[in-house]
Order: sequence, then structure tokens, then C-alpha cells
Amino acid sequence: MSQTPADLDPSFPPSSGAAVYPGLDEWRSLPISQQPSWHNDPGYAAAVAELSMVPPLVFAGEVDILRDRLAQAAQGKAFLLQGGDCAETFEAATADKISARVRTILQMSVVLTYGASLPVIKMGRMAGQFAKPRSSNDETRGETTLPAYRGDMVNGFEFTPESRRHDPARMVRAYHTSASTLNLIRAFTQGGFADLRLVHHWNRGFTANPAHSRYESLARDIDRAVRFMDVCGADFEALKRVEFFASHEALLLDYERALTRIDSRTGQPYDTSAHFLWIGERTRDLDSAHVDFLSRVRNPIGVKLGPNSTPEDALALIDKLDPNREPGRLTFITRMGAQNIREKLPTLVEKVTASGAQVLWVTDPMHGNTVTSPNGYKTRNFDDVMDEVRGFFEVHNALGTFPGGLHVEMTGDDVSECLGGADPVDQDAFVEGYESVCDPRLNHMQSLEMAFLVAGALAE
Ligand code: PEP
Ligand code: MN
Repeated sequence: MSQTPADLDPSFPPSSGAAVYPGLDEWRSLPISQQPSWHNDPGYAAAVAELSMVPPLVFAGEVDILRDRLAQAAQGKAFLLQGGDCAETFEAATADKISARVRTILQMSVVLTYGASLPVIKMGRMAGQFAKPRSSNDETRGETTLPAYRGDMVNGFEFTPESRRHDPARMVRAYHTSASTLNLIRAFTQGGFADLRLVHHWNRGFTANPAHSRYESLARDIDRAVRFMDVCGADFEALKRVEFFASHEALLLDYERALTRIDSRTGQPYDTSAHFLWIGERTRDLDSAHVDFLSRVRNPIGVKLGPNSTPEDALALIDKLDPNREPGRLTFITRMGAQNIREKLPTLVEKVTASGAQVLWVTDPMHGNTVTSPNGYKTRNFDDVMDEVRGFFEVHNALGTFPGGLHVEMTGDDVSECLGGADPVDQDAFVEGYESVCDPRLNHMQSLEMAFLVAGALAE
């Protein structure tokens, strides 16, 4: 079998069709982690070449609109709600599951809009969240060790050698699954599905559940506000359409690079795989390939900051990713853990603020609070998650900075993956109700409950 340049050296020049722009391939010569080993696969070059030619999933103009919206949030005039699966799967990209997730995000955003009296920017961890960083390259079950599952864009969840093989053709399937997911999201959010008067009907289902009675008065207020707008003749036609943005962790640089295009209006590179891309806690080293690549595209960028992040790390990331100090360009998504946030976050926020940078601060209350249940499931306690959210608000309120958003792993389905909530999930429910192939998500009711609790904190 003949070798391609990629077989010999993954730092080979971009395949024909890829957008050419100075610096876009610099990452190939830098340290990179969490990548699949598929560069020797005969299908690799063809997959990358195909992705270099396909239409963009999102448009540069939309990306620019999102940057403006996030700039508003960075200035305390809007709030970001970002939610979705830890790992999307090809199999679960069905109309029912996608619409339930979008609906849940819209419902949460109604509650948050009311609580914050601010516009809420709605963003899915959707239509591209198919690649996962893992703590180990392998997984052992009994006598058998196989490559770890790295997300449907890399290999299959099924524990067989064939399924766990890193298959570059999966990048092309991820693109098409993202396209169909995004198509449905666009139809739902532009076609009347988002009608505020319909979205708020869930209030009744939620508060009819005795477990949620303490949210009744807020739910009733929202109901009343919607009815008031209706009788005042508010333009519900306009409210039927909502902006909804797509985001994922930019982990597989083969994929992100191939989907990067030069915008004909501005002449600048945009990663058209999603509106917003973030760099994970495990790949955010300053001199890494990930930070370099994302520094060169115009999309708004997020960086996860865990409990070991120092103010120096944060300031260096700002210099690299947002040298022009452009509000909306850079979002720090902190995921400290409920135990750490009140101690670790203040210095970070203080030093970043003192530097004059205007980043958007978002809390991810999920990833610092992962535990194993006694019966062996990866889970999170709803109370810990909420405690981190409260800590996030406390720290920002004390410093006079703006707690600008919430990043959650959630689903619209009635799964049992996180413990607790007002209508509590216990570990026995995991046996039947645990569906996630990666981290545990808030279910529909837990997601709504979180929105009510955050709305309360925002209204304080
Ligand atoms: C994630 O968002 O699923 C994730 C892996 O997060 P982090 O990079 O914060 O660990
Ligand atoms: Mn996760």
C-alpha cells in the first residue's frame, strides 16, 4: 500500500482543498495530546480531503453575531446558557432527542431571562460534540484491554476490537450528523417551535409535581408576564424565532483544521464546524497545538480552567488568544469543584480584571464535581453542582465582576445519571436509567430545577 505524506509525518502540508492561510498549520509542529492514532490509516488522507471540500456547517456572519452577543455578556448585559451532552452519539442524533434537548435549553432560558432580566444567549453543546479527552488510552474489562472510547468521531462505544479501532472515516460521519442535527435545530428555532407561549406551558407540568412546589411562585410570575405581554399585543411572531448557537470542544485538530475556511467578506479564517469552540482542561497548555490553532481562527473561543489554573496561566492565555482584548473573543469556563471555587476563583478573577482584559466568566459546575457512586457509576450530586454555581455567584458578587454564564451537561430526557434534585434520583435508578456514554447529565427535571435556582441567584 502506498504511503501518503501523512503516514510518514503528521506535520505534512494541508491536503488539497484546505484553506490556505499563514499560520493555520503551525500546530502541526507543536506538542499535541489526546489525538487518535489514525494517521497511518489508509482512509485518513481521503477523510481530511473530503472535509476540506464540504460546505461549512456554520457561517462566518453568524459567528460574528455570536461574538457580539458574547461581548454583551462580558459587559454584564447578557447571560450565556450553554448545555448539552457530555458526548453526543451518532445513534442518539434522533429528532426526538435533539428536540427534547433544544426544548429544555429554551425552557431553561425563559426562566433565566426572567430571573436575570437580561437576554440569554442560547448555545448547545450540540452538533459536533463527538470527541472526548480521556484520562487513559486504554480500558480494561476482565482479561481484555482495548483502546478507550474517545467519542463517536474516533471509535465506537461497544467493547470490541473492531469498534474501538480509531477510524478516520468517522470524522466524515460526524460532519454529516452535525449537519443533520444543526438542520433540525435551525428548523425548530426558526420555524415557530420556540413560541414563548408554548415553551412556558411546561411550567404547569413542572410545578404540578409536588417536589417542585417551592418554585411555584416564580413559575406563576413567568406565566403572568407572558400573559401580560400577550394582552399588550407583544409581537409573538418575532419571538417565535430565537438565535441558537452550536458549540463543542475543539479536540480533534484534523477535523477542525479541515473545516476551517477563509471568509470571503473579511479574508479571515473561521472554523466552520461550530460557532463557538472551547479548549478543554487537558489540552490548554500555552504552547500546545490546541491553543495555537484556536488563536488563529476568528470564532469566539472558550478555555476550561480547573482548580490548578494559576492567574499566570490565565493571563498568558489571554495574551495568546485575545491579544487585542476584544470583548466576546474569550470566555473562561471555570470548573473548580464545589470544594475549591470559593478559595481558587477570587485570585484568578482579580488578576485577570486588574490586567484590563474583559473576558466572559462562565461556570461549568459539572466537571469539578464528578464522583463514583457506591454501585460503580460515574455521577454527580445535584447539591454539589448547585453549590459550585452558588460559589461562582458569591465570588463574582463580592468582587463586583459579572457571573456571565452557565455551562452544563444536560439532556431533555428522563434519564438517571446525576444524584439528587428535588424529585431525587438515587443510585438504584442508574441500573435502568443511565444512558450517557461519558459523563452524567442533568435530566429534564434537574435541568429545569437548576434554571430556577440560578434565576433566583441572578435576581438577588
Ligand atoms: C467536557 O466538557 O466534557 C470536558 C471534558 O471538560 P474539561 O475539559 O473541563 O474536563
Ligand atoms: Mn464531560
